[in-house]
Parts: sequence; structure tokens; C-alpha cells
Amino acid sequence: MEEFLPTEIRRLPESGRLRIVWSDGHRAEYDYDYLRGYCPCASCQGHHSLSVEFKAPPASVTPLAIEPVGNYAVAFQWSDAHATGIYRFDFLRQICPCQECSDARRESAAESSNEENS
Ligand SMILES: [Zn+2]
Ligand SMILES: [Zn+2]
Repeated sequence: MEEFLPTEIRRLPESGRLRIVWSDGHRAEYDYDYLRGYCPCASCQGHHSLSVEFKAPPASVTPLAIEPVGNYAVAFQWSDAHATGIYRFDFLRQICPCQECSDARRESAAESSNEENS
């Protein structure tokens, strides 16, 4: 499997988004609330869930700090004082909110639900 690394992670305070540019040239802008809602830590996701689900944050957040974690992830320090989520690069790529990636996810979700029905 191809590995994608972010070559740029930039906060865009005017739009409340985070821009990520990937090593393959792919770029996308992630809403802060979207990222916060996808916080993969156990206290947000519960200990039993296998896949990370979106949990809408009760209030809008902004990242106060973004720290690299090793060479495989970043951690956000959110304005609601939450900072335990470690966002792996492959995970960030997986939840890419751009049109192209959302369409691809919808297609693969449709395919897997077809399999269940057959
Ligand atoms: Zn969390
Ligand atoms: Zn994308």
C-alpha cells in the first residue's frame, strides 16, 4: 500500500480549517470541528469501537497547537482542552473531506453494503 505523508500542515484561521498538502500532491482543507469530531482517542471513541466514528463536538473548537508525533502522526491541542488524540497520517488521509475522497468512500460503503445484502 502506498504511504502518503503530509508535506504541509497549515492552519487557516479565517476559514476555520486546516490545510493538508500530501506527498502525492493531493490537498484538502479539514474543518477544525470535523477533525475534533474524528478524534481517535479512546475517551472520545469508547474502548469497544473498531473504527473511528464522527462524534460532533458540543462546541466549535480551534487547534491551539499542532505537534508532530514521531514521523507518522500529529497531535492537536484543542481549544476545549482536549489533547489526547493522535491522528496518524494514514487516518487523516482516510478521512480526507474533499469531494473526490468522499465520493470514493461513498462508493466503497455502497459496495460493502451490497455484499451484506447478497
Ligand atoms: Zn479524543
Ligand atoms: Zn481528498
